[in-house]
Amino acid sequence: MKILVVGGGGREHALVWKLDQSPRVDKIWCAPGNGGIAAEAECVAIDASDVRAVVAFAERVHPDLTIVGPELPLVNGLTDAFRQRNWPIVGPSQQAAQLEGSKIFSKEFLQRHHIPTAKMYGTYDSAADVYRALSSVPFPLVIKADGLCAGKGVFLAPDFAAAKDFVERGMEKNELGPGGKRILLEETLEGEELSFIILTDRKRYAPLVPTRDHKRVFDGNQGPNTGGMGAYSTDELLPDELRETVRSKIVEPTLRGLAADGIPYQGFLYIGLMLTNSGPKVLEFNCRLGDPEAQAILARMDFDLAEILSDVAEGRLDPSKLRWKPGASACVVLTSGGYPGKFENGKRIDGLTAAEHITGVKVLHAGTKLAADALVTNGGRVLGVTAAARNIKAALALAYEAASKIHFAGMHYRKDIGAHATRLKAAGD
Ligand code: AMP
Repeated sequence: MKILVVGGGGREHALVWKLDQSPRVDKIWCAPGNGGIAAEAECVAIDASDVRAVVAFAERVHPDLTIVGPELPLVNGLTDAFRQRNWPIVGPSQQAAQLEGSKIFSKEFLQRHHIPTAKMYGTYDSAADVYRALSSVPFPLVIKADGLCAGKGVFLAPDFAAAKDFVERGMEKNELGPGGKRILLEETLEGEELSFIILTDRKRYAPLVPTRDHKRVFDGNQGPNTGGMGAYSTDELLPDELRETVRSKIVEPTLRGLAADGIPYQGFLYIGLMLTNSGPKVLEFNCRLGDPEAQAILARMDFDLAEILSDVAEGRLDPSKLRWKPGASACVVLTSGGYPGKFENGKRIDGLTAAEHITGVKVLHAGTKLAADALVTNGGRVLGVTAAARNIKAALALAYEAASKIHFAGMHYRKDIGAHATRLKAAGD
């Protein structure tokens, strides 16, 4: 098989890493890829969100299968363009990708199908209407921009003044771009978060192993939100009883709801959950694998990814073929100093060979590029040091040992990825 992977971050490197291990695969392109992906696939300089450019490339090379990593090409209609031409592709249609592309669409969907979620107070098209509504809603309050805002569209407002400031920046000063034109206000939920991702071919679905990610930049969940500072996976995140509740109250009603609304869904569906005192509730849908959740999930994979994804594209997914390594995995993200604010690119990265020599470790590249004589930083999130082992403690120990071998100027990473899981274990929970 010849496979095209669309995207160029850590998630796409994880996909390329596992596809490359399949005996069925003899060629992988990645558009645009990055400095690390270049060792395992042919990187092509195409903007992943440019549907016309990706279609033109596929027209030329005829991939047997295309896999879309990020949300933007999906929201822009890439899979529709491929399906019109009968080209096999994994990913939801533009319409189905609205589950991620529009928070209002997704909230209305959840309400229509009685799927547990935070209570919505209202949706608004003008700042003046939001300010009026703010006087009658309880705080803390969650404010969500309707459209894609590169991770900056959700704000947990402690009080009226902070809420007003966010709305003013989003709706009046356009700081969030077109995604901030409409706004939704909802109840604040409390609890632990869990990422539950399924793979579906429209008819059948298979759950992937559960993960938890860490969004804040500093230890102890301090500082601003990022794209994700790390993630871990262990089956203990999802005890049997909770798994059953998620299946019967959330996953299956979601798939039935999509079918009833005439929106067939194919590809990865990410369900972000808050585990509240009154049961799991949906925080958000994403129409793709999470990043860095994908890195932790794929590290535990024990099946042929190329086979399963071509089954999905052809509508013959057999969920029993998805087998997982027991134990756990972890991904620790190394970032540029200053991220998620301003940072500098072009810092030389050292120590990768020593890190990758550790058995069970894979260093997945996100923001890296090949310069004349070295690999250099090229983004906020630079590397995802990923490890799988017999339990979470061992997986974290491997990932942190590998991270300690790597160096670039300004490098930062959290020291407490998965710490909560190991504490629970120590307490015998
Ligand atoms: P979303 O993109 O909707 O998942 O929001 C990003 C993050 O905001 C989530 O991962 C949660 O940490 C937080 N969040 C979103 N909605 C809520 C809510 N209703 N209550 C509390 N936290 C929330």
